[in-house]
Amino acid sequence: MNLSFSPAEEGFRREVRDWMEANVPRTRLPSMDTAAGFAAHRQWERTLNGGGFAMVSWPREYGGRGANLLEWLIFEEEYWRAGAPGRVNQNGIFLLGPTLMEYGTAEQKARFLPRMASGEEIWAQGWSEPNAGSDMAAIRANARADGDEFVLNGQKTWSSRAAFADWLFGIFRTDPESKRHQGLTFVLVPLDTPGVTVRPIAQLDGETGFAEVFFDEVRVPRWNQLGKLGEGWKVAMATAGFERGLMLRSPARFQATAARLVELYRRHASEADPSLRDAVVRAWTNAEAYCLNTYRTATRLIAGGSIGAEASLNKIFWSEMDVHMHETALAILDARAELLPHASAAGDVGDWLDGFYFSLAGPIYAGTNEIQRNVIAERLLGLPRS
Ligand SMILES: Cc1cc2nc3c(=O)[nH]c(=O)nc-3n(C[C@H](O)[C@H](O)[C@H](O)COP(=O)(O)OP(=O)(O)OC[C@H]3O[C@@H](n4cnc5c(N)ncnc54)[C@H](O)[C@@H]3O)c2cc1C
Repeated sequence: MNLSFSPAEEGFRREVRDWMEANVPRTRLPSMDTAAGFAAHRQWERTLNGGGFAMVSWPREYGGRGANLLEWLIFEEEYWRAGAPGRVNQNGIFLLGPTLMEYGTAEQKARFLPRMASGEEIWAQGWSEPNAGSDMAAIRANARADGDEFVLNGQKTWSSRAAFADWLFGIFRTDPESKRHQGLTFVLVPLDTPGVTVRPIAQLDGETGFAEVFFDEVRVPRWNQLGKLGEGWKVAMATAGFERGLMLRSPARFQATAARLVELYRRHASEADPSLRDAVVRAWTNAEAYCLNTYRTATRLIAGGSIGAEASLNKIFWSEMDVHMHETALAILDARAELLPHASAAGDVGDWLDGFYFSLAGPIYAGTNEIQRNVIAERLLGLPRS
């Protein structure tokens, strides 16, 4: 076993580090859940693309660098180390992009991937419906074939950043007689099409991180179908695999949080409850363990392996680790944790509270952890459904 990086990988790391040091904005961008913040983050995507760093693991022809998974992990380490902004087009580059590469036609790849990489087109995910969340097979939004068009009707909800996004990918029922996972089709929809109504959902902080999307006789070309008619579930499960597997939440994100937590504890060690030291150590070791496990998976994938239901283990691990790290930070900060960063007595509370609230969503999005546990029980452990 060789645990060191090759000279080429070290060179790539230096290149990324130098570029990030020169280009990462010095001041934090406004939240991407606001119109101004969304625009600023889109601009950052353009800058990344200009440097050739939009999505390093994609083939060059689509705006990538043809990097392998190990190089992608190195890129992520340098990205988070530099404190670079969140990826406003994560639905596109991390989820739809890889799905398009697997299921898209050559024309679809050429049409969508470069504009996705450049941030020119930012994507929302349209899966959940008011009565189809965990039970996604209950989807009722439908697409009726009419000549060379689909006519869409129905409603999606909880669509992250759809309030500002350009396109939405979703699954729609194309066979009205079908039940559950059958008869669904994966369709790509421009959000400015007549008949689409995007209604922002304000969060507790007033920012519109989500939207409901209504479809009323919305016409899109059948060319926008991804994968085969009626096989949308299969395509969506590939997307879900990318979401729960390696792409959406790389280890570097949590290693960066763990490093900040260690620093926070050091600053407060004299007044913090000594038992918190164990929690800090646990957070740090968990982040390292997640990193090593991800490198192991990446090596296996490079050698031709695949990732299946074990992606659910990853998802539970990172989401619970994130909650634990933020809870520990709030405990270190004690009563001050509840102050907003601009309060006069805030001291170094930073954005831990904001991060804590977002961490609580981790066990819900990308499929709740209860559902992941069902997947593990049935598909990895072979336990009976009841
Ligand atoms: C931050 C965030 C971003 C999101 N972004 C998007 C997005 O961009 N696009 C999109 O389509 N959706 C998005 N969602 C929605 C998300 O996918 C759903 O919230 C999630 O799938 C759960 O569905 P639900 O909210 O309808 O809850 P429900 O499915 O009603 O579940 C309620 C509770 O019951 C539990 N439960 C349900 N069924 C079972 C079962 N069979 N066994 C055990 N427990 C069960 C669940 O685990 C949960 O605790 C987002 C959610 C969040 C929090």
